[in-house]
Amino acid sequence: AFEPAQRVRAIGVSEILRITDHANALKRAGRPVIVLGAGEPDFDTPEPIRAAASRAMERGDTRYTVLDGSPAMKAAVQLKFRRDNVLDFALDEISVGAGAKQVIFNALMASLNPGDEVILPAPYWTSYADIVQICGGVPVSVPCGETNGFRLDAAQLEAAITPRTRWLFLNSPSNPCGAAYSAAQLAPLCEVLLRHPKVWVLADDIYEHILYDGHAFATPAAVEPRLRDRTLTVNGVSKAYAMTGWRVGYGAGPRALIAAMAVVQSQSTSCPSSVSQAAAIEALTGPQQVVAERRNDFQARRDFVVAALNRAPGLHCRVPEGAFYTFASCAGVLGRRTRSGALLQTDSDFCSYLLQDFEVAVVPGSVFGLAPYFRISYATSMAQLEEACARIAAACEALE
Ligand code: PLP
Repeated sequence: AFEPAQRVRAIGVSEILRITDHANALKRAGRPVIVLGAGEPDFDTPEPIRAAASRAMERGDTRYTVLDGSPAMKAAVQLKFRRDNVLDFALDEISVGAGAKQVIFNALMASLNPGDEVILPAPYWTSYADIVQICGGVPVSVPCGETNGFRLDAAQLEAAITPRTRWLFLNSPSNPCGAAYSAAQLAPLCEVLLRHPKVWVLADDIYEHILYDGHAFATPAAVEPRLRDRTLTVNGVSKAYAMTGWRVGYGAGPRALIAAMAVVQSQSTSCPSSVSQAAAIEALTGPQQVVAERRNDFQARRDFVVAALNRAPGLHCRVPEGAFYTFASCAGVLGRRTRSGALLQTDSDFCSYLLQDFEVAVVPGSVFGLAPYFRISYATSMAQLEEACARIAAACEALE
């Protein structure tokens, strides 16, 4: 029989996949399940971006490119960082991969030795912990409660750093909770990091453009230039331009790290897709108004979902600053019983109940390292969201 390698056994099967499989099985059985799990925009890649890809194909841009991004693609990334973040990177300080996920994977593969620790403020994107483990590192989850807006504070960071700490991950706005850091909120964390020169920072800025209520986006390398020589700033086109399937992401940071990441990429994918790079160049350098239009759509959905959840008995939802997720507490329904007599003890129990009895698929907070919560992705139509929220409210009202 097949025996998976130790590094794979360490991470197990993703809970999100398990829930998605279950939801799809119910759907196949003819049940009208609404799935609020997917972390991807529900609109199509804008036409000018698709057209740029077609032109690239016709032109014959169908060969391997430079392994960590074509010169034109790197120039587009350079322009993006200057325009949006006032960050200046040389082309050899930029790495392009098959999605932000591959860039993060490359960075950890290139930097972690066995037992090195990576600080993950919780709730965090599940993949961080899994990638750290595949690369032989140790994820160190630091629970960041709602009282501080799900944000890490300076004292928590100081307490979490050990001689084995290699990286601090920051993800603003956050998947799964939508929390974002202002420059003023990043500054005290940067102060702590300045006292610990061996700790590097990975800023995952993939939701940069999905930020509401006039909040200004901030990223560590720009807030504290003295951290620039140990910060990898990661971003991508998936979320801002609805390009999840094109698989293009990028990172910028110190040359030596970027070179080591290129070594990893050279022996995995060789280079990102040439056609996708052409599309991403158009996304980053073309007209940007689509980004603002989508943000307004997402904001209307956020407002609707947050208000609806807060009306449901036993639920409580903080207003997220960005991304397209709500992260609501279900503490108020735990200890209650469903009509069929099942006792709800954990957020996973609540999510199973929602799926089984009310046909709404959401993801428990425990998957992201913080319970008892559940995540809704509201990157879906308002009609679906209205129906889903009505079902969730009915589920809460039905508890005994
Ligand atoms: N970072 C975060 C926080 C995400 O939520 C995701 C996607 O879900 C990614 C990175 C990966 O994005 P990409 O499609 O660029 O690999």
